[in-house]
Amino acid sequence: MALYGVPVLILKEGTSRTHGREALRANIMAARVLSEILKTSLGPRGLDKMLVDSFGDITVTNDGAAIVKEMEVQHPAAKLLVEAAKAVDAEVGDGTTSVVVLSGALLERAEQLLDQGIHPTVIIEGYKAALNKALEILDEIAIKLKIGDLDKEEDRNIAKQELKKALHTALASKYIATPDVLDRLMDMILEAAFTAAEKRPDGTYDVKLDMIKIEKKRGGSLADSMLIQGIVLDKEVVHPAMPRRVENAKIALLDTPLEIEKPDITAKINITSPEQIRSFLEEEAKILRDMVEKISSVGANVVICQKGIDDVAQHYLAKKGIMAVRRVKRSDMEKLEKATGGRIVTSVRDLTERDLGSCELVEERRVGNDKMVFVERCKNPKAATILLRGANDMLLDEVERSINDGLHTIRNLLRDPKVVPGGGAVEIELAMRLRKWAESVGGREQLAVMAFADAIEEIPQVLAQTAGMDVLETIMELRKLHAEGKQAAGIDVVNSKVIDDITKINVLEPVAVKKQILKSATETATTILKIDDVIAAAPKKE
Ligand code: ADP
Repeated sequence: MALYGVPVLILKEGTSRTHGREALRANIMAARVLSEILKTSLGPRGLDKMLVDSFGDITVTNDGAAIVKEMEVQHPAAKLLVEAAKAVDAEVGDGTTSVVVLSGALLERAEQLLDQGIHPTVIIEGYKAALNKALEILDEIAIKLKIGDLDKEEDRNIAKQELKKALHTALASKYIATPDVLDRLMDMILEAAFTAAEKRPDGTYDVKLDMIKIEKKRGGSLADSMLIQGIVLDKEVVHPAMPRRVENAKIALLDTPLEIEKPDITAKINITSPEQIRSFLEEEAKILRDMVEKISSVGANVVICQKGIDDVAQHYLAKKGIMAVRRVKRSDMEKLEKATGGRIVTSVRDLTERDLGSCELVEERRVGNDKMVFVERCKNPKAATILLRGANDMLLDEVERSINDGLHTIRNLLRDPKVVPGGGAVEIELAMRLRKWAESVGGREQLAVMAFADAIEEIPQVLAQTAGMDVLETIMELRKLHAEGKQAAGIDVVNSKVIDDITKINVLEPVAVKKQILKSATETATTILKIDDVIAAAPKKE
């Protein structure tokens, strides 16, 4: 037939295709490279990465989430790991480095099994079975924290002490702070979380994280940071003649400029006499005066505006004794809406008394060299702001990330108040119990369960490494202690030694985070193991 010898094109020219084992190996390799990069950042003695983006902006951090967000990962399999890290971050707000390291370890062990001629499907099944067993074991060994009724002073103090243990672990790994500063930061996180906590019918608490604002102000030192019951705006009152302090504030939240809007199209107005100019300007002033009149007539004594406020409008507002702040961020407007019980209005004409938010005090105060506006004791008492002070932006950003981790930890624990010992203790215990259980699984899947157990031990191995300890010796010692029934034996990374009971130095992690890490890492590894064909379109030419 005439068709013989004519190539049949199914894929676009330039499309690359890797197939079968070759594709799988390339994917595993890519994922492992990413995990190798992140390994050195794990735990309290993890090193920082300096990341430079395409604009030349620099981030220095050892927070896994921040690292993977800034790294522009190209390889599709490595991207899956990045997605996993982001998913864990979104779900529990912590554990990002661990999930990448664990995914890498699971894939590394899978590769060894592939070399022994075990089919990917068997490995996937084995890993899934091991995951389910691991989750079961976690429930068995979890320690319950005493969280009583947060409305009662006494229970609150007990809960604080309990939660601080886990908070310590979440914060200590992120930056070097002196113990007293760390303690202050922990108190602020706890107070903020308690403020934003809502009781659920089952007695647990739901921390509304969107009610907590973190505001950074360069200058001073970390020790000058403070917690405010309410919202702090990094803005000044617009006009010197306005009040700086308003009690029993009635706040108009505007998403419209108090200015004469310029027409979108160019318009030409022919003016022929000075009277016309005057009446034109008077007309403009009247429009602004009417706006202010309207605001005042509904009873507002504070205006918080997302857009600009014209000089003339400022003057009229000042005359009425109304305090005004302009160009406030949308996210702040939304927080204010929730905190003050007001409603953001897009047209002054529509403003009514019911749209006004309220709080006991709005005040402009000096913070360092700048002024900020404090909206305090709001109608909805669940709003809180953590105002961070510090020497430079990089430090402030890193502290903000830690505070966020801390807030997430507390949210996770108030939802599910159970912790497991950290410092590698829980991993060694899991690995030990999984190996024992594997015997009952039998067949080739047993090998996959064993591989899963080995992969989990990678976490304590890396911790030992960052602590400068002998890895093999440390793991052997830990295994021995766990075999003797010391469930909480782990690595005191800061002092580079193995201890019988890691909970004594308060290295505890929410069980929810550990579960999420295991789930996401297994999911990522099995997703990659299922791929046997990579068909990539040629990159688009710029
Ligand atoms: P991730 O981004 O995964 O949360 P981290 O850098 O926060 O990673 O490190 C978390 C790991 O470090 C956990 O396994 C935790 O148990 C361990 N860890 C944290 N603090 C300590 C400590 N003081 N001593 C020993 N291990 C710790």
